[in-house]
Amino acid sequence: MRNLKEKGLIPHYFVILHYLKGDMVTFKHISIVILLLAGCILPLPGNSIRANTKAASNDFIVVIDAGHGDHDAGALGQFTNEKSINLGVARKLGKMLSARKGFKVVYTRTSDRFVTLQGRCDIANKAGGDLFVSIHTNSLDKKSPKRTTIKGASVYTLGLKRSDENLAVAMRENSVMKLENDYSTTYAGFDPTSSESYIIFELSQNKHMEQSISAAHKVQRELVKAGRADRGVRQANFWVLFKTAMPSMLVELDFISNPTVEKYLASEKGQTELAAAICRGICAYRGNTGATDTDSFEDLGTLSYDDEEENAEPKIEKAQKTPATPTRKTPAKKESAATSKSPVYKIQFLVSDRKLPANSKKFKGLSPVEYYQENGTYKYTFGRYNSQTEAAPDLRTVKKLFKDAFVITTDGKNRIKQQ
Ligand SMILES: [Zn+2]
Repeated sequence: MRNLKEKGLIPHYFVILHYLKGDMVTFKHISIVILLLAGCILPLPGNSIRANTKAASNDFIVVIDAGHGDHDAGALGQFTNEKSINLGVARKLGKMLSARKGFKVVYTRTSDRFVTLQGRCDIANKAGGDLFVSIHTNSLDKKSPKRTTIKGASVYTLGLKRSDENLAVAMRENSVMKLENDYSTTYAGFDPTSSESYIIFELSQNKHMEQSISAAHKVQRELVKAGRADRGVRQANFWVLFKTAMPSMLVELDFISNPTVEKYLASEKGQTELAAAICRGICAYRGNTGATDTDSFEDLGTLSYDDEEENAEPKIEKAQKTPATPTRKTPAKKESAATSKSPVYKIQFLVSDRKLPANSKKFKGLSPVEYYQENGTYKYTFGRYNSQTEAAPDLRTVKKLFKDAFVITTDGKNRIKQQ
């Protein structure tokens, strides 16, 4: 089974690149079948795992997300894979942070298991995290001439400063949702390999953008100090950053496709240095609570994880802190509109003769949506605004997906005639 799984895993990265190029190859289908089968028979991920349950409620909660897992190996090197490197660094980072006063750590996974992208966001939001740190390992396409020589760390935040290079990284990381059964339903029609789908990210009210960028710079600076080549703080639209209601970043540690770098990434020393650098960056962002640049993490190089045996069922602890309400999905302006008696403006984008499921593909990834009934039809809307003017920027974006979209006036639920 392991061999079979790995055979399915190996072409994973390759498969996505073929998708990107619309290039159909037979073994792609075989791989996907294997991956989907693996998804059916392997256990679903558990809930969040707290490393430190004694923490006080005012602790700074860091959600550590080791990218990929189980049948999703992520990028592949010559002798190891991304999921293992990510997990190694994530666990070391968690140990380091937990050892500090004022920090509480929540992991999205602590063993080789599959967690969906939305599942990772749900864990983070439920925990009321103060910072979300997703850990990944970069790679280049097999056709790229720089594949084996490229190196360097970069930290991503959600954002609109788009570039083709950054979009390719986001598409690769987001594409793991295609390994989920019925991903199109879970993600309401979002297609991770279609650039058009990425329009929905423009609708996110990223109130944490400044904090995210600040935290990302601090982590990037420490990674560079620790010896990584500097590929900078970048912006791209990753699902796990989009749906986490807290400052968030995605770290691409370095390139597994470079054999020299791969050896470092796979080593105990390399993973400890990388985790220590990220830890120092987070501490600097937090306001240096208990951390100094002279801290040594050498003693943390050979941690034992007897509290979390590999493949053991995760321990699920009740959160001691009241979970924060995810805010990004419900921008403040929506709340103010909903609580007043003034009209509520919404963007109507779709009419249907029947009621559609909340995650219908017809919404092209728009979420959350509302509907009202009129003349026997269901009319679907996005957003809640205090005025036409306030709705205008989102309307422009929604029109890119639904060209006939327009703003309506409502009493909060039904359409009303304007004066
Ligand atoms: Zn990854």
